[in-house]
Amino acid sequence: MEPSAATHADAPAPTRVEAPATGRLLREVPTLDAAAVAELAAKARAAQPGWEAAGLEARAAVFRNARKWVIDNAEDWLDTICSETGKTRDDGNVEVSVAAQSFGFWAKMAPKYLAEEKLRSLSPLAFGRKVAIRYSPVGVVGVIGPWNYPLVNAFCDCVPALMAGNSVVMKPSEVTPLSGLLVAEMMAECGLPDGVLQVATGGGETGAAVIDNCDFVMFTGSTRTGKRVMARAAETLTPVSLELGGKDPMIVCADADVERAANAATYYALNNAGQICISVERVYVEAPVYDSFVAKVLENVQGLRQGPPAGPGEVELGAITFEPQIETIERHVLDARERGASVVAGGRRRPGEGRFYEPTVLVDVDHTMKCMTEETFGPTIPIMKVADVDEAVRLANDSEYGLQASVYSRDMGKADGIARRLQAGAVTINDSQVNFTVFDAPMGGWKSSGIGVRHGPAGIRKYCRTQSILYTPFAPKRDVHMFPYRPWRSKLMSRVVRLLYGR
Ligand code: NAD
Repeated sequence: MEPSAATHADAPAPTRVEAPATGRLLREVPTLDAAAVAELAAKARAAQPGWEAAGLEARAAVFRNARKWVIDNAEDWLDTICSETGKTRDDGNVEVSVAAQSFGFWAKMAPKYLAEEKLRSLSPLAFGRKVAIRYSPVGVVGVIGPWNYPLVNAFCDCVPALMAGNSVVMKPSEVTPLSGLLVAEMMAECGLPDGVLQVATGGGETGAAVIDNCDFVMFTGSTRTGKRVMARAAETLTPVSLELGGKDPMIVCADADVERAANAATYYALNNAGQICISVERVYVEAPVYDSFVAKVLENVQGLRQGPPAGPGEVELGAITFEPQIETIERHVLDARERGASVVAGGRRRPGEGRFYEPTVLVDVDHTMKCMTEETFGPTIPIMKVADVDEAVRLANDSEYGLQASVYSRDMGKADGIARRLQAGAVTINDSQVNFTVFDAPMGGWKSSGIGVRHGPAGIRKYCRTQSILYTPFAPKRDVHMFPYRPWRSKLMSRVVRLLYGR
């Protein structure tokens, strides 16, 4: 299905979509200019009141259909996702299953999270009055996504926006727009009314036009672009939610189950070829278990298979989706080498067809190196020996980012204490990444990793305007604080205030 906007005769050149695993051209899609985006947004705006009026149950029914659709058509999804990202079938399957889970979650929980609330206020002026809080959709939500999870990190953020009664203009990454077009096809078949979801294909300028035409921006991508998005949105005072980059630390304590920690480091640093915002990007290991941890990680990495998307369970590592990303990975590894790190596995592009970087383990690393301080977003595991937990915490927090972190220890009390000292929006203990699928729990970055959260009650209420309504059912002709002022009443009011707060 093509984007639904008419493209103009002088429209920008189409966007070429290539298969990273082979370098071959898959398809060209239109690059929408500002006028075309405005047209899509106008259609979305026209469709929104009807969608809101349909009610939560009708909206939930569409997403229950979508949950089934995504599973019934999993093979089509895998073909599309894997071809345009180069990820393995197993990594693609993660997207399909997380999307299905997300559709069901929001269908079930949106009524609870958006239910009107009745307040029992502490204010003395609320005596005899009632207060209600309601959540009203903002109107048109713009969702701008990255290329690493073209289904989950673009459309799964549309789901709560749609469930709240908004219409959505979604702009997938120009690197992976085919999944976005398949989303439009899926949702039309699942009963989403015409116009409610618009897909705007194109690059940064298309994204800027989405910001100009919507009432709320949900952005997932790099910190650099996030700053631009916020600046642009400031021109129209459009609120934003930003899910940005990360440099997630993993801390392995001396009392950890070293085998589990090493297996987790291998998987959570290298799944999706390391192209995950919440990848393990750096590891700090207490000295007593450092050698055994490194040995186990190396053993794991040596057994990994890499190649183009193949059948289920056939390769562990896929391609690097975006050409400039492989250059960043190469730069970080080269910089580490030049500053004294040892590359004990991988450390180079895989020769031959396609865009692959070998799974790489770096030791003798420190914070003078980019691989420990800048987001690599690739299949690298830099491991640093630390003297103790205090050093690990200090180094973990020595970062502009604060997306996630993980702690490995057999002592849950100690691990909990470490978690609370870490500057990160989410911390996992004896685990990494799995919190993403715990949709009840909010997740969002601290520091340069973002603003706002996805998931949990706040993950849907952000797409709403909050309205509080105060009811005064039994109203006297005049309240004691109203005009005209009289000395006896002023004295009485002062006495009441003293009585209430002066003790
Ligand atoms: P990116 O910032 O280059 O692009 C993201 C999106 O922004 C794309 O759709 C792009 O077309 C659009 N865009 C570019 N310029 C724009 C502008 N001026 N105005 C509006 N939109 C514009 O990011 P990417 O390379 O696609 O993705 C990788 C980055 O995303 C990494 O930094 C990764 O950590 C981050 N990420 C974060 C999360 C999270 O949840 N925190 C999840 C996935 C990816």
